[in-house]
Amino acid sequence: MRDARYDILFEPRQIGPLTAKNRFYQVPHCNGGGYRDPSAAAAMRGIKSEGGWGVIFTEQTEMHHSSEITPFIELRLWEDQDIPALRRMSDAMKTHGALAGIQLAYSGINGPNFYTKEVPLAPSALPIRTFTNDPVQARALDKTDIRNLRRWFVNAAKRSKIAGFDLICLYGAHGFGIFQHFLSRATNQRTDEYGGSLENRSRFAQEVVADIRDAVGDTMALTMRVSLDETIGTLGFSNAEVREYVAMNADLPDLWDLAHGAWEDCSGPSRFKEEAAQEVLVKGIRELSSRPVVGVGRFTSPDVMARMIRQGILDFIGCARPSIADPFLPRKVEEGRIEDIRECIGCNICITGDMTMSISRCTQNPTFMEEWRKGWHPERMNPKGESTTVLVVGAGPAGLEATRALALRGYDVALAEAGTVLGGRVARERLLPGLAAWGRVVDYRQYQISQRSNVETYFDSRLTVDDILAFGFQHIAIATGAHWRRDGVARQHVVPMPIDPAMPLWTPDDVMAGAFPQDFRGRTVVVYDDDHYYMGGVMAEVMAKAGAKVVLVTPSAYVSDWTRNTLEQGAIHVRLAGLGVEIRLNTGIAAIAADTVETRCVYTDGRRPLACDGVVMVASRISDDLLFQDLLQRRADWADAGISSVKVLGDAAAPAPIAWATYAGHRYARELDMPDPGDALPFRREVTALGPL
Ligand code: ADP
Ligand code: SF4
Repeated sequence: MRDARYDILFEPRQIGPLTAKNRFYQVPHCNGGGYRDPSAAAAMRGIKSEGGWGVIFTEQTEMHHSSEITPFIELRLWEDQDIPALRRMSDAMKTHGALAGIQLAYSGINGPNFYTKEVPLAPSALPIRTFTNDPVQARALDKTDIRNLRRWFVNAAKRSKIAGFDLICLYGAHGFGIFQHFLSRATNQRTDEYGGSLENRSRFAQEVVADIRDAVGDTMALTMRVSLDETIGTLGFSNAEVREYVAMNADLPDLWDLAHGAWEDCSGPSRFKEEAAQEVLVKGIRELSSRPVVGVGRFTSPDVMARMIRQGILDFIGCARPSIADPFLPRKVEEGRIEDIRECIGCNICITGDMTMSISRCTQNPTFMEEWRKGWHPERMNPKGESTTVLVVGAGPAGLEATRALALRGYDVALAEAGTVLGGRVARERLLPGLAAWGRVVDYRQYQISQRSNVETYFDSRLTVDDILAFGFQHIAIATGAHWRRDGVARQHVVPMPIDPAMPLWTPDDVMAGAFPQDFRGRTVVVYDDDHYYMGGVMAEVMAKAGAKVVLVTPSAYVSDWTRNTLEQGAIHVRLAGLGVEIRLNTGIAAIAADTVETRCVYTDGRRPLACDGVVMVASRISDDLLFQDLLQRRADWADAGISSVKVLGDAAAPAPIAWATYAGHRYARELDMPDPGDALPFRREVTALGPL
């Protein structure tokens, strides 16, 4: 069944006193659920066990109350009360023979302690380093604190053992873990035996490892997670120093877990980073130690994975996002079903669940974090209901996912698409600079649908209400998408802004259709971004590459503001600056005249004319729901036409990112023919138990 090329990925490998059954290693990753949704997080890890991962880790687990990263929701192991939730997770991880790992995090200079109100402790007294520049500083750990902290690690290790874990990961990567704070000269400016030379900066980790080994090392394995390069200039823990450190401490952990830089560097989106982007930084480190090495790189290709092992670069293939997009990736490789792998597209929507403290979703895998809440399995659908036929109108991400999932459930599905290709917005957006990998949303579904005899696809089929009433399908799903507005309505303008029709103006749809002058040399184009996700920045990139002098005007304080949640805002700013785009922040547009736009400061209302030859309007989108509205008008005719339900989904219901559309399509497929839950909450949730009065 399995291609012999991939056998190497299934060779067992020892980690300390334990043996992992294969080389698929789910590195720690957040999910936005954490301590608030422990059963949801546990079930998600359990699915990965079923999917064949050899090692599965928790997200970061705050190991002592004196260091926590509120508002972000991770796991907590502060006292014995926390053990049952973690036990549920380790049990789930081990159901199919994976090793269960817990990542212990002491956040040091990264923990503002908003919840516990404790004074943060770090190697040196410096301001807390978080995404939000919190006005809090850390006190430098004194010798007593260091002794205490060592004991707290031992306590957490003992609790981890009781909670059923096999491995402990000591977090020292991404600027988030205390081990890095000690190792880096940027955050460790001590003059005692814990600071100065690399040997001194290594001391704390050595002590903690020795302490934990004494306490639980007979049965548990210890891994050390460090960044391959801190990427903060000369004071940072550089790649050269990481190599020196590994050589100097070759046998310290049972495995080296090599992450990269800050989280932004490690989880680089596909727009800015290729698969295996860290290869040069990680190459050769394995030879410095006898211990196995795991590394990451948004690995979705088994060929690249096998090469990493064969060439001796890595011992384990570390995956976070690829394991989210397809928890069954190892099993699919094992069963010779490579073409069924649902590849991560590198959009980082999963990360936004953590950044917004909500719960994560995945563009490719709509069941992510719904395994327990809704009982959704990534590979299996609920049994088919009593009806048989469904017409899905529109082959964007919503329509494609609905079709795929309905077909899997056993319905006879007709997919009607007005155009000549599948994919809707994704078919267009995948052609934009940096977004090619997003096309996997279409490719995966297109292939899956092609394998089903119960799906018929019709192109060039712009359906009308009369067509639908004539067909005789039992259920109609309207997934007809949305288009970009031309009139500027978004957040700054809630009604159309004054626009002189003499000014050339293009929406992103026009630009994607190529309906703009391809040679802009010597001309100025204003890109107005009141959308704030990626599209404004991408449009500026397209225009600059077409030779225009681009001025990006946005009412926000950041270019592509919301991409701070996808960890790419900084990279977008750098790219635009590199292309010579002039960036005007905190600036709206009051009106568009024939040859100028009138800019407006969002604070002072100060107005200034800005001469230009054209405007790209990135405002909001309007649902293309006319067909749905027409069908509602004809409700009286449904019964005669054999129609029992009509539903609008995805962008046609309300425009949102692509992940919202795949979720909507999937949900539709799951819930068809199911009893109406009425007013009940449509998912399970956990409610904190009341303590004694
Ligand atoms: P979503 O993100 O919700 O899936 P998209 O805009 O990506 O929405 O896709 C909608 C798709 O629906 C497009 O491919 C569009 O061509 C198609 N479509 C729109 N109106 C009709 C119609 N009346 N009949 C068939 N297909 C339609
Ligand atoms: Fe990959 Fe995007 Fe899914 Fe995250 S949300 S796992 S980046 S496809």
